[in-house]
Amino acid sequence: MLQQTTVATVKDYFERFIKKWPTLTSLANASLDEILVEWQGLGYYSRARNLHKAVKILNELSLFPSTPTDLRKLPGVGDYTAAAIASIAFGYLIVPIDGNIMRVFARLFAIPSPVPLLKQKVYEYTSKMAEGGRSGDFAQGLMDLGAMICRPLNPKCTECPLRVECRAHNEGRMAVFPVLRVKPQIPKRYGIAYILLHDGKILLEKRPTKGLLGGMMGVPTTPWEGESLNSEDLFEFEKDLKWHEVAKQVKHTFTHFHLYLTVKVGISPKLYKGDWIDLDHLPGVALPTVMKKVIKQIPTEILRNFSKIN
Ligand code: SF4
Repeated sequence: MLQQTTVATVKDYFERFIKKWPTLTSLANASLDEILVEWQGLGYYSRARNLHKAVKILNELSLFPSTPTDLRKLPGVGDYTAAAIASIAFGYLIVPIDGNIMRVFARLFAIPSPVPLLKQKVYEYTSKMAEGGRSGDFAQGLMDLGAMICRPLNPKCTECPLRVECRAHNEGRMAVFPVLRVKPQIPKRYGIAYILLHDGKILLEKRPTKGLLGGMMGVPTTPWEGESLNSEDLFEFEKDLKWHEVAKQVKHTFTHFHLYLTVKVGISPKLYKGDWIDLDHLPGVALPTVMKKVIKQIPTEILRNFSKIN
């Protein structure tokens, strides 16, 4: 859950999860849809799908994997997560290197390399230090130091136990490190989202398993492309029905692009093929945030009244 997401955001989700599925076996027996419902709003849904796959694998094993190499084989477990579990849970001599820890080391040793070269340098420093033992405590100490003391802006150097050795502090160059790489601008993509209604129901569809928001439910959309769409990309009922366009576009930012969706609302004369969900049951459906934003463009009450107009 904490991959790409802060503790403050994750806390409530984590507590709900642990209450609902207190053991590995209970989580392994849950369906993906149940997990996605609890996950909704947290984003990066591939984590939920990987969690579901990983927990099923773990439930079949007689021993929980404890080395970074074995942990790395689990779906969704990358270098950082494998190192964090191995060091904190099993005392393995390795330090998980995240942005906070890279910042501490970049300042401590005034490392001029920008990310991602910095990561290799930090790895070289930390691998020697972790040999000192208590690697889990060491990793967590560094994480806390990076999060609370050596903050990106205004580091609290007077409270820092490393200040005597810290080169950036001694040279008054805390703001210089870590050296940042200039971020490339992320592109814009456009599309149309269709809210199709019929007698208190809304048409949803399951997105293809592979790809962005794979396996999640949502309203039908065109592909998310450049500014112009081909006519074959339009929703199959686009031409046959009357649509009302919502004045404000929905903007949503994914990691690698900004998405701008035009929202169109239409009344269907019948229940075409697809998943027609009662508007009252919509809150129980696991919808990704972008789809919630689309549907929230119009209050449910108005959608319900609108859906009954022929
Ligand atoms: S002394 Fe300041 S800059 Fe150096 S590690 Fe501590 S908080 Fe960071």
